[in-house]
Amino acid sequence: MAPLVLAATRARADARLKVVASFSVLADIVKNVGGDHIELTTLVGPDGDAHVFEPTPTDAKAVAEAAVVFVNGLGLEGWMDRLVQSAGYKGPVVAATTGVKPRIMAEDGNTVTDPHAWQDLGNGRLYVANVAAALAAADPGDADDFRKAAATYTAAIDAKDEWVRAELTAVPAGRRKIITSHDAFGYFGAAYGISFLAPEGVSTEAEPSAAGVARLVRQMRSEGIKIVFFENMASPKLVQALAADAGAKVGGTLYSDALSPPGGPADSYLKMFDNNVPQLKAAMLGM
Ligand SMILES: [Zn+2]
Repeated sequence: MAPLVLAATRARADARLKVVASFSVLADIVKNVGGDHIELTTLVGPDGDAHVFEPTPTDAKAVAEAAVVFVNGLGLEGWMDRLVQSAGYKGPVVAATTGVKPRIMAEDGNTVTDPHAWQDLGNGRLYVANVAAALAAADPGDADDFRKAAATYTAAIDAKDEWVRAELTAVPAGRRKIITSHDAFGYFGAAYGISFLAPEGVSTEAEPSAAGVARLVRQMRSEGIKIVFFENMASPKLVQALAADAGAKVGGTLYSDALSPPGGPADSYLKMFDNNVPQLKAAMLGM
């Protein structure tokens, strides 16, 4: 390679856009759109809980050096404002859920917003569009590549959405009930027609009340719900206790708020559905 070409290649590699994504699911979406044009730092990694996170000085440094910071928004990352402030970051903080119709609900007398919008693949399309627009604004020279990558990835999301719907058509209406440890599947349930119940609310920050757990056990018994699911990023204790109290069994592990480590059963946003949907289907059909 001629020295001039080599120098140009280096300059191009050096010019990779530094971006930060708050948690692993969003990071996978950002990676799919940004490709080789970005240098990506993920704050809450595989199997991590994005509701409760204590950033380190290394995280603050990554934020300080970023050209764009991507968050889910809708209240998922309660720790992010402080991190941005302490890092002295002045760039854009882009909420991937911009344009999502939020699920707003009552929880223990409070109005809460459900942040788990990625569990509806229809919302995944919006995440991709928001990420592509923000990357193009930060790096206009590569905007064409971001647009093309977003189109390819959106087609894969659409195909997965159709697959999920097809997989679940076999489940009769009366059996479409699933128990998890926290309320992470509200958007999934609304999109694909399943009721999800959980002893914990839309955040893992608060412990469930004993009265709430007892109420759920009564409901499980009266409605014949015999299977509960672990979530990869939550403690298994709550689900084990619930299963014991209600005479139910544990159906497996759903990936809710975080991906698996690379090589695991849900190491991408789309593979999360590959892991979760067959388990949900089998549990509901076996009820
Ligand atoms: Zn959650």
